[in-house]
Amino acid sequence: MHIALLSRNRTLYSTRRLIEAAEARGHSVRVVDTLRCYMNIASHRPSIHYKGEEIESFDAIIPRIGASITFYGCAVLRQFEMMGTYVLNDNVSITRSRDKLRSLQLLSRKGIGLPVTGFAHSPDDIPDLIKMVRGAPLVIKLLEGTQGIGVVLAETNQAAESVIQAFMGMKANIMVQEYIKEARGADIRCLVIGDKVVASMKRQAIEGEFRSNLHRGGSASVIRITPEERSTAIRAAKAMGLRVAGVDLLRSNHGPVIMEVNSSPGLHGIETATGKDIAGLIIDHLQKNAVRSRKTPPKP
Ligand code: ADP
Ligand code: GLU
Repeated sequence: MHIALLSRNRTLYSTRRLIEAAEARGHSVRVVDTLRCYMNIASHRPSIHYKGEEIESFDAIIPRIGASITFYGCAVLRQFEMMGTYVLNDNVSITRSRDKLRSLQLLSRKGIGLPVTGFAHSPDDIPDLIKMVRGAPLVIKLLEGTQGIGVVLAETNQAAESVIQAFMGMKANIMVQEYIKEARGADIRCLVIGDKVVASMKRQAIEGEFRSNLHRGGSASVIRITPEERSTAIRAAKAMGLRVAGVDLLRSNHGPVIMEVNSSPGLHGIETATGKDIAGLIIDHLQKNAVRSRKTPPKP
């Protein structure tokens, strides 16, 4: 296959590993800088240009679109989809995954375990919003935050009220969530490929911190997940429409609850913690499914 890897930087660990794994399996890979693609939205013949020329055709696209370029990156990916190219994760699923509220709404419809979560616009509704999620301690988070930035723990109702007021005053979109204290600063990352969890790790926050993100100093270790956690992760990825996803969940008193579903999960942490060749498994999945989709004629 001839594969395009949409990535801003070929030296990133995940990008390098995916190139290695694809080449080891006899595929050719072109790293395409997402922000240098430009598009002609012509009727009947959509195309993409790259650094002065029309880009060649690919058998499959692996999108690695950073959160800061979601809008443009998904437009480029959508253009490849319009041209009939097979994509590992599609633009709609990636866009969904970048909005925590939208994701939780989709997951709730499928009955997947979630922390009690509230969302409101008017400062007048703050007291009831706090009551709705069962009062402090509670977690306030920006809908589009990543790496744990924009996630705040409010210990008292009063603190919660003033933090929410401050965010609302800044016109920031936030949601309010019950604090899963019993998770004790740990979350579980499940790497889903197709309909399987192929690897999982526990991330533990450093002492005195409740956010377990590796970027916030958390440490990773291998963990055995329960059948319920496994099926929750698989159902969550499926509800989002993602073929490859990093599903983060917490162990709560009411079973596994989803934190978020990542559409471009980093490979460094999970490959290091588990010793598994996740990049290889992603390419194997791509190969099987891209070839199958080529054999199936497009819907009329
Ligand atoms: P981000 O996308 O920025 O990583 P998350 O929503 O995943 O944001 O939150 C970051 C981390 O904070 C989680 O991995 C978890 O450790 C902790 N956390 C977030 N929400 C809660 C919650 N409701 N209860 C307990 N811990 C939480
Ligand atoms: N981009 C990383 C991932 O999706 C985030 C890891 C972290 O914040 O801990 O795995």
